[in-house]
Amino acid sequence: MTTQEFLSASILSADFARLGEEIQRVEKLGADWIHIDVIDGHFAPNLSMGIPVVSACHQITNLFLDVHLMIEYPERFIEKFAAAGAHGITIHVEASPNLHRTLQSIRELGAKPGVAINPGTPAETVRPVLEAVDLVLVMTVNPGYSGQSFLPETIQKIRQIRGWIDDSGRQINLQVDGGIDAGTLSLAQQAGANVFVSASAIFKHPQGIETGIRLLREQLNKKEVD
Ligand code: ZN
Repeated sequence: MTTQEFLSASILSADFARLGEEIQRVEKLGADWIHIDVIDGHFAPNLSMGIPVVSACHQITNLFLDVHLMIEYPERFIEKFAAAGAHGITIHVEASPNLHRTLQSIRELGAKPGVAINPGTPAETVRPVLEAVDLVLVMTVNPGYSGQSFLPETIQKIRQIRGWIDDSGRQINLQVDGGIDAGTLSLAQQAGANVFVSASAIFKHPQGIETGIRLLREQLNKKEVD
C-alpha cells in the first residue's frame, strides 16, 4: 500500500504579528497542512493559542487545518474547534478519560479524529481506539514548546504502531511532532511515519522559511523515488 506523505507546518514557531502572511507563505512554498498546537498550561507547561486562531487560519488558507489539542478534558471544546474550521482534531490519551466517546464525537462533528501519545506513554494505549481514528500522533518531544530535540527512543513506537495500522487495512495517518528537521524526518519516515509536523525547522530556519521547507520537501521526495 502506498502511503501519501504530508508536511504539516506548525505555527507554534511562526511570527504571530505576521501570522496571516507566514501561513500564506508556507502554503505557497509547499506545506500540505497547517498544524495548530493548542496548549492550556495544565496538560503541558505553556499557553499558546485557541479557537480564534483556528478561525483566523480558516479565513486565510484552504490547507487542511490540523488541530492538536494539548489540553485537559478536550471534550469541552471540540465542538467549538470544529465550528471554527478545524479539519482534523487530535486529542491525547493522557488527557481524555472518555477517549473513544470523544473521538466518535469529533467524527460526528465532521472533523477527522486523531489520537496522540506523549513520549512516556506506551504505544499499546492507542491500539483499542485505532478503528475510531484517522490519525495517530506520536509525540517525539514532551509537549509544551517548539525548539526541543527529537527523542530517538520514540522510533520503536512509530514502527510498532505502523505495523498495527498496516494490519488494520485502513488508511490511518501516522504523524510525528517534535524536533522534526530534515535529519529526524528521515528517521521517522524509515520507521513508518507519513505526516511530519515541523515548527522551528520551517519558521525559525537560520536561512529562512523557504530553505526550511525546501530541505524538508527534498527529504520527502527522496523517499518517493526510492
Ligand atoms: Zn503539535
